[in-house]
Amino acid sequence: MRDFKGQQLVDGVLALVEEHKPLHLSIVGGDPMVRLFELEELLPKLTARGIHCQIVTSAFRKIPAEWTANPHISVSVSIDGLQPEHDERRKPATYERILRNIEGCTITVHCTVTRQMLARDGYLEEFMEFWSARPEVEKVWMSLYTPQRGEISSERLTSTDRKRVAAELVSLRMRFPKLDMAESLIESYVEPPRSPEDCVFAQTTATISADLTTKITPCQFGGDPDCSQCGCIASAGLHAIAQHRLPIGIQVGTLFRASLKIGAARSRLRKRSAAPLIGHSQVRLEGEG
Ligand code: SF4
Repeated sequence: MRDFKGQQLVDGVLALVEEHKPLHLSIVGGDPMVRLFELEELLPKLTARGIHCQIVTSAFRKIPAEWTANPHISVSVSIDGLQPEHDERRKPATYERILRNIEGCTITVHCTVTRQMLARDGYLEEFMEFWSARPEVEKVWMSLYTPQRGEISSERLTSTDRKRVAAELVSLRMRFPKLDMAESLIESYVEPPRSPEDCVFAQTTATISADLTTKITPCQFGGDPDCSQCGCIASAGLHAIAQHRLPIGIQVGTLFRASLKIGAARSRLRKRSAAPLIGHSQVRLEGEG
């Protein structure tokens, strides 16, 4: 959170929360741990309001163990590959430092799979072997790299790569119970939402920048993300739920879209009568760290 610090940041976040009334708040970066003192003040206030908070960090500094003992707080540590590649990319949050800083905590490991990780067979398996064995790790999540439309980069996966990773994840989840990814979620990586309008995650999440004002659209990636190659685990999870067919024969997504229309109509009515906005179910706060 580069733009604000101290009481100004605390008050600004609480004001946003009051406006949006989220069920879930993800605080991401950069690295939100650069504002540790502000987080120490904010988290009890947020959880007392019944909001589930997720801190996404590189674990470059010690994670307070009491946070992860609180059922309303989760800490997700971004680890991009095995030690040589990760340390190169993520210095100073090296493996050595992460291992020291997660001691006594319960964390989720979040890895974003890039094309470079597929150059060697067994890479993801080795990653799972290493992190599954750590007592601090409760879950492992794997996202796939999501490019912008038209992007040419060495991180971008081909459609063959995506199918290969999906098949590998399906097999790994049988061997590593900490790989907390349902098969239907993994399948969504092969057939992601077609557009932001079709993406339940984008439709239910407000992403707000470090200035506490600017909304990042159409989703947390900003810019012009390529939905056909989306690899966001949150989007894939909600997409999988939306595809689920209820016993009455209707897909959950159909009910969701109907509910969204009703919510939007109510929101318009409330705006007209100057009442507060209907809140989003989730808010993400993004900062430079
Ligand atoms: S989260 Fe993925 S599917 Fe959803 S809008 Fe963003 S890029 Fe598209």
